[in-house]
Amino acid sequence: MSDKTVTFNDKVMLPTIGQGTWYMGEKASQRRQEVDALRAGIERGLTLIDTAEMYAEGGAEEVVGEAMKGQRDKVFLVSKVYPWNAGGPKGIAACEASLRRLGTDHIDLYLLHWRGNHTLEETVGLMETLQQQGKIGRWGVSNLDYADMQALWQVPGGKACATNQVLYHLASRGIEYDVLPWCQEQQMPVMAYCPLAQAGRLRAGLLNHPVVNAIAQEYNATAAQVLLAWVISHRGVIAIPKASSIKHVEENADALDISLSAEALLKLDVALPAPKQKTALDIV
Ligand code: NDP
Repeated sequence: MSDKTVTFNDKVMLPTIGQGTWYMGEKASQRRQEVDALRAGIERGLTLIDTAEMYAEGGAEEVVGEAMKGQRDKVFLVSKVYPWNAGGPKGIAACEASLRRLGTDHIDLYLLHWRGNHTLEETVGLMETLQQQGKIGRWGVSNLDYADMQALWQVPGGKACATNQVLYHLASRGIEYDVLPWCQEQQMPVMAYCPLAQAGRLRAGLLNHPVVNAIAQEYNATAAQVLLAWVISHRGVIAIPKASSIKHVEENADALDISLSAEALLKLDVALPAPKQKTALDIV
């Protein structure tokens, strides 16, 4: 097992690769395979599982619930609330519905999926209530840009935020300008979503990029593993690739053992540099 870990503000420590679930739970015919893939991931130490009430309109949470059966204590469970549910009684009901689908009595980390009509004060209020009720262990946000994080820091209780989950992969590096260094300064882990650029769908050719492939060859690894190793080479970053086959899950778990050299990181940096000025937060 690798020693690559992130530590949350309450000292909970986790491996820097977890498992995503977007698009799981869409098709009944895929369900067995998805459950098996998640279970294989847990077995291999990919114990953070990221889901949301949005994914397959609750279907992904049901898949996660099945994967956790009999081993809830091994999983660090992350789910997300729709922005329009992120305040007041609707938020309590949304969380309770997630808990039912997940077959558990608590979510370890509950995230605001993106910023919507509710004020940050209302969302923090909801999160505090859910925490007091024992329904969530801690809370965080997703898709918040630098200015949003500054606004959150002005809200009473806002600094209890445990993470910001944002899009981050080798071909989308805007967060390195401000969001990432600021979160690192706060010692707040950043969760990198789409770490594989959705297997290249978000950036055509990324998995076939000549520099990525040359480094993959050097490390006797796949291009996907190089993308993951690159993401988690950044301090305080945890990648949450989604994989629905055991083969992919095992490859992703093995990426925890790849430490890219300074030379390899430099080559990737030259080939796919970070922007030199502020860019709007990338989202999907
Ligand atoms: P990813 O970058 O994780 O890519 C997923 C794709 O990569 C799938 O097609 C998968 O195929 C493939 N894949 C997985 N492992 C490998 C591998 N080792 N080699 C080759 N291909 C591989 O994209 P996601 O959009 O799924 O992002 C990850 C997770 O982040 C989501 O599932 C979700 O939990 C979260 N997310 C959060 C968002 C937010 O707004 N907060 C937005 C988007 C995602 P296969 O399934 O066939 O294994």
